Amino acid sequence: MPKIILTGDRPTGPLHVGHYVGSLKGRVELQNSGVYDKVFIMIADAQALTDNAEHPEKVRQNIIEVALDYLSCGLDPSRTTLLIQSQIPELCELSFYYMNLVTVSRLQRNPTVKSEIQMRNFEASIPVGFFTYPISQAADITAFGATTVPVGEDQLPMVEQTREIVRKFNSVYGDTLTEPEALLPGNKACLRLPGIDGKEKMSKSLNNCIYLSDTAEDVRKKVMSMFTDPNHLQVSDPGKVEGNPVFTYLDAFCRDEMFAEYLPEYANLEELKAHYTRGGLGDVKVKKFLNRVLEETLTPVRARRKEWEQDIPAVYEILKKGSEAARETAAQTLDNVKAAMKINYFEDHALIAEQAKKYRPAE
Ligand code: ATP
Ligand code: MG
Repeated sequence: MPKIILTGDRPTGPLHVGHYVGSLKGRVELQNSGVYDKVFIMIADAQALTDNAEHPEKVRQNIIEVALDYLSCGLDPSRTTLLIQSQIPELCELSFYYMNLVTVSRLQRNPTVKSEIQMRNFEASIPVGFFTYPISQAADITAFGATTVPVGEDQLPMVEQTREIVRKFNSVYGDTLTEPEALLPGNKACLRLPGIDGKEKMSKSLNNCIYLSDTAEDVRKKVMSMFTDPNHLQVSDPGKVEGNPVFTYLDAFCRDEMFAEYLPEYANLEELKAHYTRGGLGDVKVKKFLNRVLEETLTPVRARRKEWEQDIPAVYEILKKGSEAARETAAQTLDNVKAAMKINYFEDHALIAEQAKKYRPAE
């Protein structure tokens, strides 16, 4: 069985460092590993519209932002198919048929959708499209025959929902779809990077992000304003590292050799944490270090972005070519699905012959 990757992002804003550690960095490694036969990365504009129906311009403007972020992080269009979801109408058809295999109560139990509904104050007025987006995500994953879906932790319930749909489809209509597996980042801090405000998740919709496209000055200001341990008022006070986003970011981004370069008094993060915990280490010093650590990742990303920004039409061309190629794959899956569901009337010569015989049995 070929090994195929599908994953993507909603174009609701530029991508942030949570995306980087939670998903983007891993995607580039997977792309370069040579282990996968195909890699599809999707800009999920149709999904973004499920909770942004009144803001089509926002979605439209952010397509290029997300594409630039992809390219500047090292996704390579000669090895990875970059596509735009809305350009693949086969995905809507698949969703429509999968809807018959999922109950309303099953969707209501999805913990990510539950918390997203709360976050958006949708309780009394959930758009149907938003409520059913796990089904459309199953269409995305299965359309490309994905075996592996690299995502952050919040997307696990979506992959689980997809697996259920695949099992149900295959048991009702016969073996047709591939059951995917989620692939989480290995580093625990990267599963769900918190916001600079200390909120549980850095998220475009929460305005608590460090963006890959932020300038060095923006990043510095954001880092210096970050939430830390609120009880660590004086340098001499003992501090808490658990739940302190500054240390979570260090867990996600820092490597031992960075100490030798930027903070040689400490050999590694454990020593820095121990000092903070016993007291005598100020937030400013830790934040300055974090800023340098982040810049190690962000400086080359920013430089590649500058280059791609010089040729925006070429970026759209990459997305167009990728969407066309992706559409061929999705169309093949849809053909298989329709055949399995017995709604391929005009290709089904046996059916036509059988019906003809029923009405003219003598022949
Ligand atoms: P929105 O607020 O519009 O939902 P988002 O910031 O949650 O945006 P998505 O496009 O929904 O971003 O998520 C894209 C991918 O990035 C998913 O795989 C998701 O799990 C991952 N991801 C998003 N935020 C984080 C984070 N803070 N830490 C780790 N991974 C993340
Ligand atoms: Mg999200």
